[in-house]
Order: sequence, then C-alpha cells, then structure tokens
Amino acid sequence: MDHTIVIGAGQAGLAAGYHLARRGLPVTILEADDRVGGAWNHRWDSMRVFTPAPSIGLPGVPFPRGEMFPAGAQVAEYLSAYAERVGLDVRTGVAVDGVFRDGERFQVTAGAASFTAANVVLATGAERVPNVPSVAERLSSRIVQLHSADYRNPSQLQPGGVAVVGAANSGADLALELAATHEVVLCGRHPGHIPLRIESRAMLAVFPLIALTWNHVLTRETPPGRRSREKVLAGRGAPLIRVKPWDLDAAGVRRAGRVVDVTDGLPVTADGDVLDVANVVWATGFLPGHGWLELPGLDSSGFLDNDRGAVTGQPGLYVLGQLFQHRFSSHNALGVVLDAELVVGDIARRAVGAGASVRP
Ligand SMILES: Cc1cc2nc3c(=O)[nH]c(=O)nc-3n(C[C@H](O)[C@H](O)[C@H](O)COP(=O)(O)OP(=O)(O)OC[C@H]3O[C@@H](n4cnc5c(N)ncnc54)[C@H](O)[C@@H]3O)c2cc1C
Repeated sequence: MDHTIVIGAGQAGLAAGYHLARRGLPVTILEADDRVGGAWNHRWDSMRVFTPAPSIGLPGVPFPRGEMFPAGAQVAEYLSAYAERVGLDVRTGVAVDGVFRDGERFQVTAGAASFTAANVVLATGAERVPNVPSVAERLSSRIVQLHSADYRNPSQLQPGGVAVVGAANSGADLALELAATHEVVLCGRHPGHIPLRIESRAMLAVFPLIALTWNHVLTRETPPGRRSREKVLAGRGAPLIRVKPWDLDAAGVRRAGRVVDVTDGLPVTADGDVLDVANVVWATGFLPGHGWLELPGLDSSGFLDNDRGAVTGQPGLYVLGQLFQHRFSSHNALGVVLDAELVVGDIARRAVGAGASVRP
C-alpha cells in the first residue's frame, strides 16, 4: 500500500503518525533532530506549559499523572515515550532537504537518502525561523543578543540591564525570570491578560470550556473564528496566560514601547526612549515558511494555503501545526490532534480511491 512520509517528530507529526497507524496506513516519520519531541526539547530551562497536562496528551497514551503544568523537557520525554508505545517508525537524524513530484508520487530527499511516498505531511513546526527585527544588526557589538529560541537561562547574559523585546507570553515569562538577576525593561504592546491564575481551581474548572471554544468555535468556518484568525495572524492574538501585569510590576520590570530604532548602538523605542542596556532578548516570535520546499505552483515563503490541512493545488501534500491553520488551537496539542485526524481522513479517502482497503 502507498506510503505516507511525515516530516517532523514533534506533537503534530506524532499525532499524524498515530491516526495513520490506527487506520492501517503505512507511515514513516523523518526527524532532523537526534531525538523525538520537537520544539519541546529546546525550550528555556524554567519553561512550564501554559495548558494543563491532560491537554498535552496525544491520542492513545494519556499524559502521565503528576504535575498539572509540567516542564518543556517533560513534554519532550512524554513524546519520545509515546512514539515507542504506539510503535511508530521514526527515523531521527534525517533532515529532509527536498520534496519532488515523481508522477503521482513524491520523492523525499535527505542528503544521500531518498524515500518514495504517495503522501507527504509537513509537520515541521511553527518555530523554525526566529523573527529578529532588522534593527538588531545595528546594535553595538558590546550588547549580547539572543532570540528566545536560543535562551536557556540568565547565565547566558552579561551583567547590566536587559531589554526583553516583545511583550507577549514568552517575553513576559523571560522578563519575570530575568528580573531576579538583572534590571529588566520589557518592550512592546501589552496584549492583555487572562484574569484568572492558570493554576487556580476556577481556571482548571473552566478549561474544558476554553478548549471547546479554541477547538470548535474559533475555526475558519465561523465568523468569530475568522475575526480571531485575522488578529492572531497579525500578531495581536494571545493575551498573557501565566504572568499578570502586577507580577511584572512587583518584580521591578519596567515597561517601554516597541523597539523601532538604534542610537549610538543602543535600542530606541517608538516613544524615543533610549535603552542603556547590556543585553537584548528578542521575544519577537517566529516567521512562517518552508523555504527548502520547492514544488511547482507552491509558494512556500509564508503560511501554506490549505483546506483542513490539504495544501491548496498540491494533491497528496498536507501540512499541520501552522498558526491558526484551521482552528485557534491548530498549533497546540489540543487542536493539532483534531487537524491530524482531518488530514489522515483525506489520506484514507485517497487510498480507498486508489483501491486500498483502509480501517474506518
Ligand atoms: C514558548 C512556547 C510555549 C508553548 N506552550 C504550549 C502549551 O503550554 N501548550 C500547548 O498545547 N502548546 C504550547 N505551545 C505551542 C506548541 O504546542 C508547541 O510549539 C509545539 O512544540 C508545536 O509542535 P509541532 O509538532 O507542530 O512542531 P515542533 O515541536 O517544532 O516539531 C517540528 C519537528 O520537525 C522537525 N523538522 C523541521 N524541519 C525538518 C526537516 N526539514 N526534516 C526533518 N525534520 C524537520 C524539527 O526538528 C522538529 O522536531 C507553546 C509554544 C511556545 C513557543
């Protein structure tokens, strides 16, 4: 039976692998890293998930009982164990560098290795390309600069002030952590905040309702979903989840506007505030794109246009995990499992169309 190649062994790729295997459809998952778990293997040391542990679990193997908000590394461990428990064929250390059409099929290349597949699922994550504003190039070489993707702990910074640029969830988390060891200014628009503590009983009680809204109300098929998608894609979507404004005030974090310029090698905000800092942490998110993917008729420079994961105009090519790909939760564990089911449903229909028998 025709094979599916899934590229990426983070939660999106494993969710696709699970649904394919459940239907008896052959699948191989190719992962560039030397381990399973995706971006969760590369978070800062103190990072804890924002959504309760059960919501991180993939189908078939619940997230182990224990802490309600586990560390990023624990999520990576769970995903690695998950791939083994489900018996998925994951090949690590295989960095895909090309996907080509070969008649009805695809050739997928990774260095000297080559794979043939009827379907390809791109599950390469929304965190591949750190977004660093161009002003970064003009900062003094005396300033230590890091993107949040490379930040692990305060010891990477030098003594002196820190400008954390980008005031959404990552920026607020990092500003709070760094305030214990450095003078911190957090730059950017305050995105609002969830009024409840995420660890509170009230929040845990309403979380199922929140999940329902993220998964089934805020979708591309509803007017509120389409409005929300516009905001999210414009970078105005997510309010602060864990950190509250008063936590930042209590820790002595100063607030400033967006960094828009550089004077004498120092960052300057939109209100003309020159920030005399020794470090800049860019918490400015990631750029979409699958730059290495060259298929006729495909614009791979930004979000891949798709209908429920099926890439527009590219039969057999699918994508998972893009920001608000189909629903508000498409890029997190809750939504990607549902999106993976849709993608695999389409792959199954193609297989049946080609004469294969597929489990329902
Ligand atoms: C700071 C932060 C906190 C978050 N907290 C939560 C949370 O609490 N709850 C939640 O549900 N979501 C959270 N998310 C969102 C989301 O769950 C994670 O980003 C998640 O890791 C995305 O999973 P993924 O499988 O789509 O991508 P990734 O985890 O990025 O996995 C993609 C994989 O593809 C591989 N890959 C890429 N290119 C290639 C290639 N060419 N060849 C082979 N392999 C390749 C990569 O090595 C990687 O392993 C958070 C995101 C961030 C940034």
